[in-house]
Amino acid sequence: MKVLQDETATVAAGAALGQALIERYDGSALVFLLGNLGAGKTTFARGLIQGFGHSGAVKSPTYTLLEPYELEQGVVYHFDLYRISDPQELEFVGIDEIIDGSGIKLFEWPERATDWLPDPDVTVELEVNEYAPNARNLTIVYR
Ligand code: ADP
Ligand code: MG
Repeated sequence: MKVLQDETATVAAGAALGQALIERYDGSALVFLLGNLGAGKTTFARGLIQGFGHSGAVKSPTYTLLEPYELEQGVVYHFDLYRISDPQELEFVGIDEIIDGSGIKLFEWPERATDWLPDPDVTVELEVNEYAPNARNLTIVYR
């Protein structure tokens, strides 16, 4: 477990994971982002996506389920399943092709759909640090 002292550190940790995934998985990996609301999952995803060359904003696709990014360093699919109510919603966005294809697939709230998703290559867990409101505890596990 690593302590991220502020938001900038979380963004940097996301970018660092992106580079590790290029080296380790040739840029194709299924990544689960775990943690409560406000833990920093979207912030971490933003670090990875901007680290791949995206210069605009990154917001959680809570209503659209998926936001794809085709970037200089590779393709990133950013999912947020917080509001999913039916597995068909995943079918509609072409989940099977995305899972089978290349690119980094980031899932916020994968717990909402574990029956429909394969096991992840990597899990990233974030939690608010109990001593400092702007610090986060980060645990990355390669599975
Ligand atoms: P989640 O996607 O897990 O719900 P977000 O990344 O959307 O979380 O939000 C995290 C919130 O916590 C943001 O408002 C952010 O500014 C704030 N924050 C404070 N410190 C940190 C930190 N170290 N890492 C990430 N976010 C932080
Ligand atoms: Mg989020």
